[in-house]
Amino acid sequence: MGDGRQQNDRTSVWARTALAGPRFDSLRGAVRADAVVIGAGYTGLCCALDLAERGHKAVVLEARELGWGGSGRNAGQWLPGWAGRTPQSVADEFGAERGRALNRFNLAASQTLPGFVESLGIAAELDRSGILMVAHTPKRFAALRRAFEDWLELGGDVTLIGRGDVGGFLATSRYFGGLLFGDGGMINPLAYARGLARSARAAGARIFARSPAIRISRERDRWRVETPDGSVTAYFLALCTNAYTGDLWPTLGRSFYRLRVAMIASEGLAEGGRGFMPAGVPFADTRALWPFGGRLTSDGRFVASVLPHSSRRASPAVLARGFDARFRRVFPGRAPPRWSQSWCGDLCVVPNRIPRLYCLGPGAMAAMGYSGAGIALGTALGRELARCLVGDVALDGPVPVLHPHPAPFARTMPWLFRHAIAPVARMAERIF
Ligand SMILES: Cc1cc2nc3c(=O)[nH]c(=O)nc-3n(C[C@H](O)[C@H](O)[C@H](O)COP(=O)(O)OP(=O)(O)OC[C@H]3O[C@@H](n4cnc5c(N)ncnc54)[C@H](O)[C@@H]3O)c2cc1C
Repeated sequence: MGDGRQQNDRTSVWARTALAGPRFDSLRGAVRADAVVIGAGYTGLCCALDLAERGHKAVVLEARELGWGGSGRNAGQWLPGWAGRTPQSVADEFGAERGRALNRFNLAASQTLPGFVESLGIAAELDRSGILMVAHTPKRFAALRRAFEDWLELGGDVTLIGRGDVGGFLATSRYFGGLLFGDGGMINPLAYARGLARSARAAGARIFARSPAIRISRERDRWRVETPDGSVTAYFLALCTNAYTGDLWPTLGRSFYRLRVAMIASEGLAEGGRGFMPAGVPFADTRALWPFGGRLTSDGRFVASVLPHSSRRASPAVLARGFDARFRRVFPGRAPPRWSQSWCGDLCVVPNRIPRLYCLGPGAMAAMGYSGAGIALGTALGRELARCLVGDVALDGPVPVLHPHPAPFARTMPWLFRHAIAPVARMAERIF
């Protein structure tokens, strides 16, 4: 199981603003089920919900509390798109037909998310105002124009924003234009995870918190998962542990880069932040090393993801130094927000940044690798995982189905990112 000491989960803005979660017991004794799902983030909860809706007895085991992982810590912004990749690069890698199917899977994940959340009656501050990408150089604006054409052709709700119109979104003249993703938006991420847990339970799934899976074995035609005080035996096994997989399934735990990201949240802003974000639309710029951007919350705070610090005790103000320097350059004459909270979380980044399903054995699969874009994709892939497990869809869908294999330098890369790449990028933030 992943190490949680440094996670600061109680200091997240979402822990203060999300509706209290339902209370779940920990597992005691032996339980039999059709499927056992490990991990209660979006992927595991959507998988369990789908299984339960199809009449399968599903049991969810969560090591800590519901939404403890990335699902309760993220920035709460979803949009169609792959982390750092364009639809064209996906088509180049997978071929025109498969690449198109993958891009459409991604787009559909974003387009269906609001309806899905609403159909479950989850109160999670859903906001469909879109997400704006802004170009920090003319070359990047040309790239946004190409992305605009790609997403438009795929059926996306995208609008190219000329340089003169950026001011309607951001009180700055620093950017060369933008691309507004109308299929994106904002959500309170922890409230969403908690709502999913309620829905999965209402559909019949049994959920156990504070019940880490510590051993997995095969007994005749079933999987047996042990926790400190109990066990579950089931025909199907779904591993939905994402960046926090650890050594539970060693080949899976080495198949990705576990990269730490820090989050900062401000005190409530004057005018709810509309002074510098008049439309209230979340934004990110096109800087490759670390984009500048963020979102407002329903109670008028600003939330941004920033580079991690090598010290675990870095205060919100220290974490925000690079961000503040950029804020002053982008919004001259305005003071940066006053930061009051910080927390961090781990991304599960796979080398090609395309999420995947893994075959682990008979009736056993995992879904992971969202590489920082898992709100919509985790929701969609969790449900896809359920269908693949029980054989309702073939395994040749758009999402790659692989056997886990180690990512190159899987252990070294997170260290390098935190102790070498992040400090250099932080210095660059303060200069450029
Ligand atoms: C700081 C940060 C910001 C992000 N921002 C965004 C964003 O704005 N937009 C976006 O789309 N995505 C974002 N992401 C990514 C997104 O949060 C994740 O991709 C998504 O939450 C993954 O969901 P999941 O259910 O697969 O995994 P998780 O939510 O991480 O859940 C995995 C769960 O498995 C549990 N677990 C692990 N081991 C065991 C075990 N042995 N037994 C039982 N349980 C176990 C963990 O406790 C955890 O609760 C961000 C991520 C981070 C960390």
